[in-house]
Amino acid sequence: MTSAAAGGGSLAARFVAIDSRRYLAPGEVVWNRRGRIVAVRKARGAVADICLLPGLVNAHAHLQIAPLAAPERDFVPWIGAVLRARAQGTMRGERQQVAEAVTDLLASGATAVGDIDSTGNGRDLLRRSPLRGRSYRELTGFHLDRVAARTLVRERWHGNRSGVLAAGLSPHAPYSVSAELFRAAARQARHLAIHCAEVPEEQQFLRTGRGPFADLLAQLGRLPEGFRAPGCGAVAWLQQLAVLRATTQLVHCQELLRGDVARIAAAGASIVVCPGTITYFRRQPPAVPAWLRAGIPVALGTDSRASNASLSMRDELAAAASMWPGLSPSDLFKMATTNGARSLGTAGLGTLRPGAAADFLVVPAAASFTATLAAFVHGQAPLQAVVCGGRRRRAHTSR
Ligand SMILES: [Zn+2]
Repeated sequence: MTSAAAGGGSLAARFVAIDSRRYLAPGEVVWNRRGRIVAVRKARGAVADICLLPGLVNAHAHLQIAPLAAPERDFVPWIGAVLRARAQGTMRGERQQVAEAVTDLLASGATAVGDIDSTGNGRDLLRRSPLRGRSYRELTGFHLDRVAARTLVRERWHGNRSGVLAAGLSPHAPYSVSAELFRAAARQARHLAIHCAEVPEEQQFLRTGRGPFADLLAQLGRLPEGFRAPGCGAVAWLQQLAVLRATTQLVHCQELLRGDVARIAAAGASIVVCPGTITYFRRQPPAVPAWLRAGIPVALGTDSRASNASLSMRDELAAAASMWPGLSPSDLFKMATTNGARSLGTAGLGTLRPGAAADFLVVPAAASFTATLAAFVHGQAPLQAVVCGGRRRRAHTSR
C-alpha cells in the first residue's frame, strides 16, 4: 500500500471489484486522508498478484449478546434463556462483548454492520469504531397501548446524529410487539428491523392466539386482557400495520406463507438470512434463490453469539454457499455486500467507487476474477488485509 503526500493512499491489484459483477483488471484504488475513495481506475505497469474486494456488510447482528452458558436448541425456551442471561448481565460485560465483537467483525472482513441494540450499553463503542452501517434500538412490549408505546419510542429514539453509524428502530417481532408499538416505531423512524416469520409457533400465535408464545407472554404478564389474534400470518400482519416498507428489514422469514413473497417484493422490503442461526436451530434453509428471483434484496447476517459460533461474515458466506449451492459466487457476494447495504438503507457501502468509503479486503488473485470470487465465498482464500476508512486493520489469516 502506498501513501500519497495528502495522507491518503493507493493500491494497485490484478483485479479490483467495483461490486459483485463489475471489476477492473488490472485496477487501482486511490483514497484521500479522510478515508474516501477518490478514484477507481485501470492500473498501469506492474501490479501485485492480489484482488481488492469491497468490505462485507453484516446486515443483522446483536453485538451485545454473549454465548449462552448452556446451548438451547428449542426456540421458545431459547428466548427464555436469552432473557434470563440479559437479566443477569452487567453493563461492563455487555460493553466488553461489543468491544470484542467490533474486533472480530473487522478481522473477518466486515466493515459495516446492522446492529440490534437491546440496552443502549456499548452503543458509544460502536459509534467510535470504524464500522459503518446502522444501529437499531430494540423495542419490545406486547402489552403496550398507544400512550405507553409512544412514551417508550420517545425514550429509546436518539435520532440520526452525524457520524458513520445511522440510526433505526427494531420493533423486535410480531409476537413481542403490540400493534400500537409497531405504529409508534414506524412513525418515528424511517428504518426498521423486524424479526419476522421465524418459527411455526409465531404464525400459530398470530393466526389463533394460542400456542407457546401465548403461554410465554402470559407468564411474563404481557398478554393483554381480552387479546384477540390478528388472524393472519406475520407478513400480512406487518402489511396491515403499514410497517412493511422499502426501508424495512425482515430478519429470518423461515416460515413464509402463500402470497408473502409477493407482498415483500411489492413493498420493496429486504430479507436478512442468518446461516449460523439456521444451523444452530437445525432448521431447513429457506427459499433464498426464489426470493432473489422475485427481486427481493436478500442479505446475510451473523445474528448473535447466542445462536452462532462466531460473528464471522466469511463463515456466513461459506455456510450460505453450501446451503444454496445453486447461487453463483456473484449472487452470494452481492448478498454479503450491496444487498446488505440496501437492507440497511446506507448508500455507498459494499461497493468500490469514487465517493464511497475506502473499505476493502485484500485477497490473493486466482486465474480469473470469477475464480477469485468463488474461492473467497467458499472460504478458501486467505484474507491478507482489511482496510477500513483507508486504514489497515488486523485480519484473520484464515476465514
Ligand atoms: Zn436477531
